[in-house]
Amino acid sequence: MPTPPPDPRACPTCGDELRFEILDDERFLVAWSCVNCGLIRTTEPV
Ligand SMILES: [Zn+2]
Repeated sequence: MPTPPPDPRACPTCGDELRFEILDDERFLVAWSCVNCGLIRTTEPV
């Protein structure tokens, strides 16, 4: 059985669910933040 890819909506540090916030609608810049440990990731598709 192939291992499922890591859930992009889960915190890589604590595994908690991330909540996202749209920073820039035109550039699809989104920030994912974890309320549990404070981790913040930003995604900016090219
Ligand atoms: Zn976390």
